[in-house]
Amino acid sequence: MKQVLGAAFGLVLAGLALAGCASAPAPSDPESFSRQAVLDMTRELSRDSLFGRAPDTDSSRRAQELIVSRMRAIGLETVGGGYRHIFDLSDFANRPEGAGPAEDKTGTNLVGYLPGRSDDMATLVITAHYDHVGVREGQIYNGADDNASGVATMLAVAEYFAAHPPRHNILFVAFDAEEGGFKGSLAFVKRPPIPDHWIVANLNFDMMSRGETGGLWASGTHHWPVLAPLIEKIAPDAPIGLHMGYDGGDPDQDDWTNQSDHYAFFREGIPHLYLGVEDHPDYHKPTDDFANIQPDVFLAAVETALMVAIAMDRELEEIAEYRAVD
Ligand SMILES: [Zn+2]
Repeated sequence: MKQVLGAAFGLVLAGLALAGCASAPAPSDPESFSRQAVLDMTRELSRDSLFGRAPDTDSSRRAQELIVSRMRAIGLETVGGGYRHIFDLSDFANRPEGAGPAEDKTGTNLVGYLPGRSDDMATLVITAHYDHVGVREGQIYNGADDNASGVATMLAVAEYFAAHPPRHNILFVAFDAEEGGFKGSLAFVKRPPIPDHWIVANLNFDMMSRGETGGLWASGTHHWPVLAPLIEKIAPDAPIGLHMGYDGGDPDQDDWTNQSDHYAFFREGIPHLYLGVEDHPDYHKPTDDFANIQPDVFLAAVETALMVAIAMDRELEEIAEYRAVD
């Protein structure tokens, strides 16, 4: 009897799982996320009036408000008492213990949470930095591609999963102070808002909206071969060229492993994938403006990013086996 019941229960669960799959639109479906919201968020974050979003400035706080409003509207939950997670920027100066803060500037990471459908506590952390380099010699560096585009991508993925709950927990984090040393992501991994052993993988977006050099790169599979089949499966159906590399596997390519916030996770032995485009003529120039992004390329990259996020959620238990345990 127990067996029969078990089998029947299994069938019900299988039916529920199938129903779950059927109701979630494919990333290419116009219903899967708002394309307009992606472009609007990118445009808003990269306006001249936000003065390049340098940490601990009024313009940074206005950028935070835009992102937090969107997190709230999407329905992301808070962890640790709110969306804003403040850290001491001076934590990272090389100072002796007890020397006190070298400067009293703070950074602010923005964290939203979606609980998974399963009991498994394994958590995927999807990230993009919202800061940029601010104003230099009177010129505003708007950082539309770097990295308003990544934040808008992350929020689109959050929108999708809020409407179609993920199997596993997902934290969505907009990092501050990436420029000049990944301080937001280092602060996050040092004192995560959830138990650190729950964090088993990172998907990071940085520069998603330009197509001069053709396509989107997935960096990280050289370090984490478990993630390669996932990219291989997605690439043929992706609406943009999706390539693996820039992670130390090919001596003729740059190594992007230590080029954005995924590095903080990599250093902790947490499997990561970084999605981004190659450097372009406006990289870290005052001309990295919304007018110079390529909306069609960008939206195809966002759709592809969503395909990768869905696959990472689906495969998270297998990926978790590769997370270093101390
Ligand atoms: Zn960046």
